[in-house]
Amino acid sequence: MEATNGLDPRAGIRSSLRDGVAGLLAGLYMGSRTLLRRGLRSAIPILNLHRVSSFRPEHSMTLQPETFRALLAGLQRSYRFVSLRELDRVLASGQSGEALCSLTFDDCYGCLYTHAVPILRALEIPATFFVSSGFVDSATPFPHDVETGFLDLPNFTSAQLRELGHDPLFEIGSHTITHCDFSKPVDPAAIARELAESRSTLAAITGRPVTRFAVPWGDLPRCRPEVIAAARAAGYERVYSHFGGRNLIRADGRVGYLLQRICSHGSAAYVRACLEGYRGRASFLPGKTPRDTWPPELHDTDLRRL
Ligand SMILES: [Zn+2]
Repeated sequence: MEATNGLDPRAGIRSSLRDGVAGLLAGLYMGSRTLLRRGLRSAIPILNLHRVSSFRPEHSMTLQPETFRALLAGLQRSYRFVSLRELDRVLASGQSGEALCSLTFDDCYGCLYTHAVPILRALEIPATFFVSSGFVDSATPFPHDVETGFLDLPNFTSAQLRELGHDPLFEIGSHTITHCDFSKPVDPAAIARELAESRSTLAAITGRPVTRFAVPWGDLPRCRPEVIAAARAAGYERVYSHFGGRNLIRADGRVGYLLQRICSHGSAAYVRACLEGYRGRASFLPGKTPRDTWPPELHDTDLRRL
């Protein structure tokens, strides 16, 4: 076609099409951003870590301090970290105007006091430490560390726990006495003792009430109804799993007794992906490392029946 007035009409059509497509893509992008923002506000993830240390970094649940700092600083760009107490309040209110996230640590690893706590204080990030009381002040290794040959990892001392318990940024919860494996047959009296004595021991050490309990290993076979019922009977206000991770904010303000957590298994990439809504296995992520393995099938388990 002949150009008129130096302008090619086809160019005008192409330009309109380009504008239309660009507008459509921009709309989709903005829509997805809106959905993402709504999604971030509709559920609160609880993150669960174990060790932060440069000592024995090959340990499968270890994040090195600089990785830990970068992970948290990065997450702070999208989330405001809140304590489990504040998370309870938000869930009960039935709404949140911002993206929130909570942070927890399990077991009794003393490296957290040395490496994680200074970073948490610098970034003003609250955290809860779920401690197996029988390991405090001891050199006893955890069962999962005995299995993999890690026998030289120091545990928390009473003095460290007391200091953390008195810092308003932190809270101490129970993780049983012995890191009890509830997937095996355990006498009901032994379950009751694991829950009650760990609670009273940690309260005596810290001088603070212990109101939260995280199930050791925390998968579905261990979060069985007898354990949850025993936690209620022992007076815990809330119980925490080791999978699932995102806790929906219900409009009616109803809060489940058992909340879900994301367990990192030492992979910062996996933590970040889960917090952004990823629901698959770590092994499907690009750039995976051997420590990115994740127990399959657990991630999408429906816990509503609990
Ligand atoms: Zn544990």
